[in-house]
Amino acid sequence: MPELASRFGPYGGRYVPETVISALDELGEAYLRFRDDADFVAELDGLLSSFVGRPTPLYRAERLGARYGIDELYLKREDLCHTGAHKINNALGQVLLARRMGKERIIAETGAGQHGVATATAAALFGMRCCVYMGRTDMHRQRLNVIRMKMLGAEVRPVDAGTGTLKHATSEAIRDWVTNVGDTHYVIGSAVGPAPYPEIVAELQTVIGRETRAQILDIAERLPATVVACVGGGSNAIGMFRGFLGDDEVALVGAEAAGEGIATGHHGASLGHGRPGVLHGSLSYLLQDDDGQIAEAHSISAGLDYPGVGPEHSYLRDTGRVRYEAVTDTEALEAFIALSRCEGIIPALESSHALALLAREGTDLGGAGPVVVCLSGRGDKDVEQAGAALGIDV
Ligand SMILES: *Cc1c(COP(=O)(O)O)cnc(C)c1O
Repeated sequence: MPELASRFGPYGGRYVPETVISALDELGEAYLRFRDDADFVAELDGLLSSFVGRPTPLYRAERLGARYGIDELYLKREDLCHTGAHKINNALGQVLLARRMGKERIIAETGAGQHGVATATAAALFGMRCCVYMGRTDMHRQRLNVIRMKMLGAEVRPVDAGTGTLKHATSEAIRDWVTNVGDTHYVIGSAVGPAPYPEIVAELQTVIGRETRAQILDIAERLPATVVACVGGGSNAIGMFRGFLGDDEVALVGAEAAGEGIATGHHGASLGHGRPGVLHGSLSYLLQDDDGQIAEAHSISAGLDYPGVGPEHSYLRDTGRVRYEAVTDTEALEAFIALSRCEGIIPALESSHALALLAREGTDLGGAGPVVVCLSGRGDKDVEQAGAALGIDV
């Protein structure tokens, strides 16, 4: 029987309480069974098409490209997915799987609120109970998403621990799962957590890279020179990169959060400036202090404000197959307004980190051919915060 990857080089694994191991086994076995089940695949593909809106377009951004000296610049429009970001690809797949497994209750953790909204949406679609854990600080930063989740029928449980952000919300969700594992499926929102989650999430997001590869070959009649994606936990990036990992001539670049600047210590650049350690059930690069305590991450975008990263990215960093760069809040805001003005597309602040590398590296990125950026989400959720940071009067 084939197995799901549980380690990527030394990274990944299952650093969890004994009570969770059998649930992880059950999940992995169910996923292996259903991913090759014709009914399951047909149901998922049908919903990705009619409910999510896939395939998402590959859009040629000529004015933005000209601004940065890139002749062929393309944006993979995950911002056009239902609920506004790539997260629904994963949430829908996992909720569908949970139903097949006979689970009745869905739980999730959320930072920016996007994964919470995606999960609440998928749960509503199937009439399942849904509980989302969210840090109190993030609830204030992303009020609109809290309202959306409640409208969709989900219960939003505030988490006051620590700084009230994603790290602690995740710990609470794990606690809930340990207690209610019999009837509950925990939908993890990124390619992180104990095995088999990173592999399942990556496979569910690989639809991004698969589509992009076919689209660029169709439109540009060659592979891209460079593919860029932002990295929080790393799910949109790994979903995109897996379409090109085997093509050595395609440069892959991940953009993580440099926050207020690496030197300030207020950032989220776990790959560039962290060390391997264990968080939320897996071994990966982490932001930690000299004693090995997990440090707080900082980023203007709640979706990149996480001190860890998925294990596969840690491996791809070490092997050098993917280059990871850190982008500051200021650079991301400049890219946010540049795309809005040049193309009439307001991007998520997370995606703006990937776009910012266009300004920084310009022609160097596209010298040998087309450049593709994964536009992981739309910026509706961020306009208030970005508007204030940019000094836009109303
Ligand atoms: C959540 C989110 C991210 C970061 O998550 P990944 O798992 O790294 O993809 C990036 N972009 C958007 C729009 C998001 O909502």
